[in-house]
Amino acid sequence: MAGRLSDPEVMLAGVLEEDDEIRALLVDELHRQRSTLQLIASENFTSPAVLAATASVLTNKYSEGYPGRRYYGGNAVADEVEDLARQRARQLFGSEHANVQPHSGASANLAAYLALVEPGDTICAMRLDQGGHLTHGSPVSITGKLYRFVAYGVTPAAPDGSGERIDLDQVRDIARRERPKLIVAGTTAYSRTIEPEPFRAIADEVGAKFMFDCAHPAGLVAAGVHPSPVGVADVVTFTTHKTLRGPRGGALLTSAENARLVDGAVFPGLQGGPLDHVIAAKAVAFREAMQPSFKSYARRVVANAQALAGALTGEGFRLVAGGTDNHLLLVDLRDFDPELSGKVAQETLDRAGITCNRNQIPNDPRPPFVTSGLRLGTAAETTAGMGEADMAVVAGLLATALRRRDDDAALRAVRAEVRELREQFDPYPGAGRES
Ligand SMILES: *Cc1c(COP(=O)(O)O)cnc(C)c1O
Repeated sequence: MAGRLSDPEVMLAGVLEEDDEIRALLVDELHRQRSTLQLIASENFTSPAVLAATASVLTNKYSEGYPGRRYYGGNAVADEVEDLARQRARQLFGSEHANVQPHSGASANLAAYLALVEPGDTICAMRLDQGGHLTHGSPVSITGKLYRFVAYGVTPAAPDGSGERIDLDQVRDIARRERPKLIVAGTTAYSRTIEPEPFRAIADEVGAKFMFDCAHPAGLVAAGVHPSPVGVADVVTFTTHKTLRGPRGGALLTSAENARLVDGAVFPGLQGGPLDHVIAAKAVAFREAMQPSFKSYARRVVANAQALAGALTGEGFRLVAGGTDNHLLLVDLRDFDPELSGKVAQETLDRAGITCNRNQIPNDPRPPFVTSGLRLGTAAETTAGMGEADMAVVAGLLATALRRRDDDAALRAVRAEVRELREQFDPYPGAGRES
């Protein structure tokens, strides 16, 4: 049994045979992931090894504290697991210190704020509607209630695609005027490279600290296809489940000097016991990301995003920032069809078996729940094995579905084609087939 736990089929069929209801739902979800296109930019398919670690007996353990300094007994194994995870994270990113306990990217960001600034302090970060994240000071997030955020955005759109880049002049002006204690770089819907050095220079000029939220490109950074903020930013936060392809979770990287501050912010500052099973899965993912195959994976993710961008442009879509340097693209739907909102596009594509999310574009005339954009990413389908030629097919299916969105038969036909394409690229071959 133990030897077969790496097989997702065992987790579904064996481990859950007692609970028909949840088992049936998990089989449904496996079927959904397998028969529809996964283009959500923040998602990926983990390896069976990451799945197995996440489903391990470490979920039973309580380990408040850090290796060698725990509050409960019985932590010899948990200590080794966390030490291995931290050591691998340090090696993968070339960092002096790693904290692998945050339950999520949001927790990691909150811990960074707790470590670096005081409640009420001013923080300069990217506006949500220009590509920032909720935890970068949205009024509905605890971050927006605890700190005073001042926001920067992107440059105006330009016909040649050279606009909609992070406006560093604006960052500098705001920093000089507002004297923030912390400047945050990092976004959730930005398709271009973010150079950390210019942010560092501005932070130094105004005496601010600098945090880089690397949630999205962490895997690309690990593979060397996006510049690394490690050693440039005071604290780097990231998620382990997006391009890094690990379990759902967060982590922080920092200098040896800031290690105690950051560790104290995570525990006891924010969290109780860590998720040891997830930490084991993070360790597995960090090791996977050190392999040469991961470097080539990351290069293919970017090549696929660029192929998808090119094909969508050919279908009449405008891309925010004129294209992509990373794993995601932001599509402005207005040129394709001024009547089509992001909400209707997302719902239409769901019916056609193409899973993605609506997203605000910079200066979006429509409200956040409606939007004029779609965000697409290639991290998951590249893991499943799709290449650049498949991206052209995907763009064609997506455009057809949106053009014929009022035609049920046409959408059913697209869905059938999607399924046929998708089934050539099974992320979990063999699992759950006979159920
Ligand atoms: C995804 C994301 C997060 C939050 O990650 P969760 O694990 O969902 O909490 C934080 N910052 C950015 C920029 C993100 O894209």
